[in-house]
Amino acid sequence: MIPGPDKEALILFGGLPQLAPRGSLDLKSLDNERGNRTAVRNIVLVTLDCVRPDHLGCYGYRGVETPHLDQLAACGLLFEEAVTHGPNTWVAHGALFTGCYPPVNGLRSPHDRLSPQVVTMAEWFSAHGWTTAAFPGTSLVGRGHGFHRGFDLFDDKWLEAMETSGGKVLWRRNWKQALAKAFEWMEESREPFLVWLHYIDTHHLPILDLPEYYRSRFSPRWQYYDGKVSRADTECVGEIKRFLEDKGFSERTVLAIFADHGEELGEDGRPLHDGELKEDVVRVPLIMVAPGTWAWGGKRLCHPVGLVDVFPTLCKLTGLEPPSGIQGLSLDEEDLLWGSRLRARILYLENWPKGFVAARTSQWKLVLRVDPCDEASVRGPKVAGLYDLRNDPGGTNDLSGSYPDVVEWLRAECMRWFTMSPSGGSWEEGMESVKEALEALGYI
Ligand SMILES: [Zn+2]
Repeated sequence: MIPGPDKEALILFGGLPQLAPRGSLDLKSLDNERGNRTAVRNIVLVTLDCVRPDHLGCYGYRGVETPHLDQLAACGLLFEEAVTHGPNTWVAHGALFTGCYPPVNGLRSPHDRLSPQVVTMAEWFSAHGWTTAAFPGTSLVGRGHGFHRGFDLFDDKWLEAMETSGGKVLWRRNWKQALAKAFEWMEESREPFLVWLHYIDTHHLPILDLPEYYRSRFSPRWQYYDGKVSRADTECVGEIKRFLEDKGFSERTVLAIFADHGEELGEDGRPLHDGELKEDVVRVPLIMVAPGTWAWGGKRLCHPVGLVDVFPTLCKLTGLEPPSGIQGLSLDEEDLLWGSRLRARILYLENWPKGFVAARTSQWKLVLRVDPCDEASVRGPKVAGLYDLRNDPGGTNDLSGSYPDVVEWLRAECMRWFTMSPSGGSWEEGMESVKEALEALGYI
């Protein structure tokens, strides 16, 4: 007997998402299909790179103050059980922007690019009349991986103009300059717009020049993490919140703030997130704030969701159907009230270059070990661990020997996703800047 949810409800979607021909996309009514909701128009997405939910005030942490995020969570919707689908910046954003898991969107290793067979969030909204802009914080989410697709403005000129120092290319952009440019773009652009801001200064390595205020307020162990989180709340979240309010955009804009992955923060080890799919890196904060009749008033959703759900849910909020074949769920009012579909979720995660794949429910996480270079291993991966997250939230106690039925159940689900594949494009552009960024961040 397999403990857990109704398995029939777990088969969510099949097949590859197809990009509909441009000519077949019609502008749809902005009214929600139920007709009693005022659809949101603008979309502002904010990535807080590497930020763990358990280091934010609105998730119960008391070691750092995050008043701006807390205020947004208090009037919006906070996802208690949100996860990423890969503990790397590019993999996580690939899932976010396509609503599909890495095997389907094609972006699994640093040298992949998004499959031409999937439609990106920016392509979809652009095709439906939105103006779109992206302000990526690093070359890890650049044109080389295909992240520019669908954006009218993909603001990566700073990469071309990167200064070099000792042969090393700078791997991140100046946040204040990015923010100023994004604000200017929003003020001048035709609505509705979709804009993505990528805050990279919470990422580890190289150590940032953290102002003394943030150093002095935290213990040595945490100052470089909590200090950076505190600064992000002020200089990123607070600034964006104020801008949207001051300019009147908040009345017709959904603001979604999330991390792409978490961070392992050992007692003495350096920060790391490119590993075994541990809970520290898998769980991410996700907060949405929307105006008018969509206002959630501080609701906290305690069911599993993934970054793949953001794209289709934004479609729901704006009155669009998501692309066919998308793997994420379009969360509707029933999901938010009852969570019946969500209780039955199995979410897929992987760190393909390092050989880890996983299936995760609200209770269980099964991690499999795969050698990507060994076909026998790919066909029959070894079990790296099974964790009961209800009784072992950190996922440290391997129970695979005690629950063989659960292992086989989740292994089958995991392999079903793992073996899906698009006819992905090969990685060609931007090789050097990505390689330098990977080195600077300690990935290679
Ligand atoms: Zn990242």
